[in-house]
Parts: sequence; structure tokens; C-alpha cells
Amino acid sequence: MRPRDRLRIAMQKSGRLTEPAQDLLMRCGLAFRQSRDKLFCFGEGEPVDLLLVRDDDIPGLIAQGVCDLGIVGRNVLNEYQLTAGREDAVALAEWRALGFGRCRLSLAVPQEMDYAGPVCMAGKRIATSYPGLLGRWLRERGIDAGVVTLAGSVEIAPRLGTADAICDLVQSGGTLAANQLRETDVLLESEALLVGPQVLPADERGDLVGLLLKRIDGVIQVRESRLLLLQASRGSLEAITRLLPGGPQPTLLPLAGQPDQVMLQALCAGEVSWRQLEEIKKAGAREMFVLPVERMLA
Ligand code: ATP
Ligand code: MG
Repeated sequence: MRPRDRLRIAMQKSGRLTEPAQDLLMRCGLAFRQSRDKLFCFGEGEPVDLLLVRDDDIPGLIAQGVCDLGIVGRNVLNEYQLTAGREDAVALAEWRALGFGRCRLSLAVPQEMDYAGPVCMAGKRIATSYPGLLGRWLRERGIDAGVVTLAGSVEIAPRLGTADAICDLVQSGGTLAANQLRETDVLLESEALLVGPQVLPADERGDLVGLLLKRIDGVIQVRESRLLLLQASRGSLEAITRLLPGGPQPTLLPLAGQPDQVMLQALCAGEVSWRQLEEIKKAGAREMFVLPVERMLA
């Protein structure tokens, strides 16, 4: 493959990961011009382009060097790693866990089935779109079950009589309940990942990946962060500090002309609720502000 001087990121064209992945890249300062066929988006500013594809194709595109990075669920990455037999393909690595697209790959059985553990699956047929992950799980437990591979609508297989149980992605459990199925075992916890080759290209693209990873770390870190500002007397600081939500040590700033008063600035890892603010106020804080954090570069 001819070396490229622009970085190419594969992401899902249309589905659950599309909007959060676009949002992440936008927060990293990347902007794209969408082409008319909507498969390729040319990056404006940074030399980073997007390829919009089906999520199942993403690991293969990276392994073949067509794309340098991809945003895809761990379920899809691991299934690819277990089933793709290409020897010339490069090994893939999880570069970052991105915190969205969370779900789990679970075994589910009809509600009325007597289920006393995985051994109950011996001799049964299990419908799934993840034969690699299910096959490994069964092998590890020494269970001999039939794996029925379906591309979609796995949850109706037991009602149609084509399988006795299913192994599928679950988020809230609503789809399982609607199909009279009961989740019994979690095979894999999944979320969206930034995936890339284990060894980065030794050209400008490697440097671009380094830059992007730093920005992604910044975005992930501040996504939930709040900056808490308040004033207090030095005497009440100990009590106030004890009530602060998790985060690094707060910073104290002197207040002009008030030697026994300070301003406290704390980066909090997560929401700061009204209740927490009221408690902190009771401990002696005044003039409290909770601010969202826009960007952070450590
Ligand atoms: P494509 O057309 O790109 O192949 P798809 O139908 O395979 O789309 P989506 O349903 O959009 O994919 O799901 C994309 C990813 O979102 C999944 O692979 C998984 O990582 C994650 N996800 C999160 N929650 C769920 C859920 N409840 N069901 C399915 N996928 C989920
Ligand atoms: Mg798919």
C-alpha cells in the first residue's frame, strides 16, 4: 500500500456510534467537509480524513492498512480478532476506551427455561451474530452446544424455533423482556474504542496519532469534569475539603484585603449536585460557582 501523508479514521456511517464519535472528533478540534456520496469526509485544518462505513468493516480496514484508526465497539473488534484468519493482517490494539456505546454481550434464555448455569446449554442451539466470542466462551467451559449464526433479529430465534437460547448485545434489557427472554450470563462488557495497529506508522501519521490521543485524553477527562469555585474562611477549609467530590487537590488563592479568607478552586471528576453544594455551604462556603470545563491540556 502506498504511504499516505494524511491520517484516515474509519467510523460507523449510520448507527449508534455515529453521533458520539462525530462529537468526540469535533471536540478534538477536527472539522470535516462531507462529500456527496457521504463515504469519505475530507478534513479541514488538520490532515485527518474520515471514512464512513459499516461498523463490522472497521477492524478489517485498519488491519489491511486502508485506514489508520477506527472507532468501533469492543464486541466488533474482539469478534474480528477471533474470526479473521488473514495472516498478512496487522495486529490491532485498543488505543483508548471512549466511554460511549456501552453494552454487554450476554446469553439469554426463554423466561420459562430452567437455567442452572452454562452447563444447561450442552446439546442446545444458541443463535448469535458473534460466533467467535460465543464459541470461545463455550470452549472455555467445555460445553458442546450448537452455534446458529444470524446477521440480525437474533432475539426472535427462540420463538421461531430455530434456537433454544440467544447470545446478543444488551443495553437496557428492554428488547430481551419484550421477547420473553432472560439474561443469564455476561460474556463481554463493551464500549466504543479507538482502535489502531499495534505499531503506529513511522511517518507524519504516527505524530498525528500522538497528537490526537492527547486531545482525546483531554476530552475524556473533562467530559464529566466541573470546576468548583468558592470563598471561605481559612478555619472552615478542612471541613469543606472533606465534602468535595473526587478530583485532584484544590487550589487556594488569597483574597485581597481579607487575610483570613481564601478562594478555593477544585476540579471535580463528575457532576456537583445541589445537595452537595448545600452541604458545602453549611460547612462555611460562600459565593459558590460550578463551571463546565471546556478544554484541558495536562
Ligand atoms: P452497521 O450498519 O454499521 O453494521 P449495526 O446495526 O451493526 O450497524 P448498531 O446497532 O448501530 O450497529 O450498533 C453499533 C454498536 O453500538 C454495537 O456494535 C455496540 O458496540 C454498540 N451498542 C451499544 N448498545 C447497543 C445495543 N443495545 N444493541 C446493539 N449495539 C449496541
Ligand atoms: Mg454492524
